[in-house]
Amino acid sequence: MTQLYCNVALPVPLRTTFTYAVPETLCPQVQPGIRVLVPFRKKSLVGVVLEMTKTVPEGTKIREIQQVLDRVPALTPKLLELGRWIASYYLAPIGEVFRAMLPPATEISLKRRIVLTDSGQALAEKWKDGTTLTDLTEAEAEFLQRMLEKKGELALGAGSKRGMIPGALERLERRGFLEIRETVEGRKRKMQYVFAWKGKAAAGGKPGEKEERIRVLLETERGPLPMPQLLKLAQVSRALIERMLRDGLLENWEEPIDPVEDPFETGYTPPAHTLNETQESAFKAIRARFELGEFGVQLLYGVTGSGKTEVYLRSIQDTLARGKTAIVLVPEIALTLWIGRQCRAWFGARFEGVAVLHSALSDVERAQEWWRVRNGAARVVVGTRSAIFAPVENLGLVIVDEEQESSYKQEETPRYHGRDVAIVRAKLENALALLGSATPSMESYHHAANGKYELLTMGLRVENRNLAAVEIVDLREDFQQTQKTSPISQTLHAGIAECLSFRTQALVLINRRGYSWSVLCRSCGASVQCVNCSISMTHHKSRNRLECHYCGSIQAVPKACPKCESKFVYFFGEGSEHLEERLRKEFPGARIARLDRDTARTKQQYQETLGAFASGALDILVGTQMLAKGHDFQRVTLVGVISADASLSLPDFRAAERTFQLLTQVAGRAGRGELPGRVLIQTYYPEHYAVEDAVRQDYLAFYERELHFRRMMMYPPFTSLANVIVRNANLENAIRWSRRLSEYFAPHDGKGIRILGPASAPLARLKKEHRYQFLLKSPKKSVLTKILSGALAFCDTNEIPQTAVLVDMDPLTLL
Ligand code: ADP
Ligand code: ZN
Ligand code: ZN
Repeated sequence: MTQLYCNVALPVPLRTTFTYAVPETLCPQVQPGIRVLVPFRKKSLVGVVLEMTKTVPEGTKIREIQQVLDRVPALTPKLLELGRWIASYYLAPIGEVFRAMLPPATEISLKRRIVLTDSGQALAEKWKDGTTLTDLTEAEAEFLQRMLEKKGELALGAGSKRGMIPGALERLERRGFLEIRETVEGRKRKMQYVFAWKGKAAAGGKPGEKEERIRVLLETERGPLPMPQLLKLAQVSRALIERMLRDGLLENWEEPIDPVEDPFETGYTPPAHTLNETQESAFKAIRARFELGEFGVQLLYGVTGSGKTEVYLRSIQDTLARGKTAIVLVPEIALTLWIGRQCRAWFGARFEGVAVLHSALSDVERAQEWWRVRNGAARVVVGTRSAIFAPVENLGLVIVDEEQESSYKQEETPRYHGRDVAIVRAKLENALALLGSATPSMESYHHAANGKYELLTMGLRVENRNLAAVEIVDLREDFQQTQKTSPISQTLHAGIAECLSFRTQALVLINRRGYSWSVLCRSCGASVQCVNCSISMTHHKSRNRLECHYCGSIQAVPKACPKCESKFVYFFGEGSEHLEERLRKEFPGARIARLDRDTARTKQQYQETLGAFASGALDILVGTQMLAKGHDFQRVTLVGVISADASLSLPDFRAAERTFQLLTQVAGRAGRGELPGRVLIQTYYPEHYAVEDAVRQDYLAFYERELHFRRMMMYPPFTSLANVIVRNANLENAIRWSRRLSEYFAPHDGKGIRILGPASAPLARLKKEHRYQFLLKSPKKSVLTKILSGALAFCDTNEIPQTAVLVDMDPLTLL
């Protein structure tokens, strides 16, 4: 028999796959899409088989697959194709792409142990006998001694390194006294068989009454069930189930038992609305598209409160009725609950099949949800960005809610955009992509205006509710009157007071978390910077420390200037923590809470605060952007925005777009119930068009003005951009490599592409690394891709490490 090989994608930052031999015993199982455990250097890694092959790359020693992890391939052929597309389009290491697509490998755990070698043991015994070991430190010798007492073996963990200087373990290993060994252990997890209706009756004989009961239960009422529940609910014998299994009426598979907490509160019934005219015509257009049964993209542009969710739900219902599946992407974890809950209420009872996928789930929870989808038990998936990789089959519809949101862009490798991947996936699977937004991204609206996407517009709020009245508070005037710089202007103060007296609710938005976002010295003007990044440290008063919001490093709050030792340090720029404190001072009786990444660290905290606000247990909710999105609070009559300018001043061509979106989204949170809403936007630049158009809530006017700017400046949607960063902890390396790379770029500049740089990146230092930047602009994506892949090949032949070069295709920010 000829030896079989396969190419495996491994989670390492390299742009290649790796070839492994398939041992004969594993031959029947190994196929594309299956996860395998393979030896890699001195470790074992979980990877996914991309293809089978009979040839091997020359001159490499081929090792064997250790273990196959799946019964059915984790990834479907379509997902394999999607992964390859992502790797080539975003120029991302293929293994890291597939790492992002795979479920957590909860079925195994890798244990590492330190083992004393023979020479290590000899040495330790010598030391015990009193011989002085000149070439070992006391601590190292003691460690060998400890190993000897432990019969030569120790689990590798924090505890085993106690008392050791860093690197000592590695040194002992290098000199052959110790070995680090790895073992793979299956995780002991309780498994159970789950039964589902398969419906292929053996020849002859109509299904009996009991079979019919089981069919109804498994197919329509409840979905797949484990044996004990099935026996109880259907009132049948185990023997019958086993017979039906043999006859092909049922199928079963193994699932872990670990109880997964149901994220949805029970007893929730969603409001049942009949669609209004606007919704109806949007839904008709979506349905007409389904009838075609082919790939298409629709942009549902519906003002805030126009009832997009309702249209989504009907479209999903329609998709399911056609025997297909749906994925709904939302920009925030909190929104998975809000939309997931409605999906569950609509489809749960009939299909028992709504899965929720997001990063706040534990590995076990995520794996379980993931396999529920893979096994076909869940046919609707609601989730954040990576849920676009949900392994549904027979995909009919992908919804991307709030498609303009920057959270769809992953800002680490692989740097993909969830919305764009959603469109590609829909194309691969002949499905419909439905992008929804009240403030579509420039790119999407441009495509719709050009006829590349179909535009569906919902211009009215449900029940003809008015959009909230938006007013500008000019902070320059406020300052002239009060001579105080307070984050809360007189107008905003009066507005909140009014809310309190009417017992309605107020939302107050601020763009930064923390207490003050800068610490400055009055004597020398220095600001306290992060030791790893070129960025100011943010003061967190409640935790009494400074934090870097980019790398997470912390420092003590300085009593004197770190540069000139002056005592006159002052804290500058209010953050959410500061704002909350002020509101408490100004409105002593009010019930106030804050929602930002510091107060909502877990989904429970998130839900608790949102729940308390929704139920009326709070009067004022202070928070960052996370408040602006999607939530539907009925009793909010006032929304205050502390500073519209903060996002305008960033060195970023999307600054205006982002500001407009944020202000419009925020304004949309007011006046959603029966009560009319009011929005107060505080700003120093009331004449900026992003602010002006947001006040009028005139998306189209903004779109036209911004489009003009983009055309003049040659920015998307008129060109494609790529940002290339060369980075290294060593400044000289970063400079040398970026200069060398510019030798490759220079001759291409001006030939259908503009190449700017190398320049110091706006964030010149990040997480200890120095960063130099090239910006590539071309009206033709194909030109961009060609030059970028050329650049990466150039790096390989010029000893510029792959890990030092970061490519960001279609970047959202240029920091
Ligand atoms: P959007 O996402 O477009 O901002 P939502 O989908 O959140 O708007 O809907 C806004 C509110 O209108 C929700 O409270 C929803 O229950 C309600 N709603 C939706 N459709 C209708 C309808 N046809 N009639 C009455 N109320 C509706
Ligand atoms: Zn100073
Ligand atoms: Zn930092």
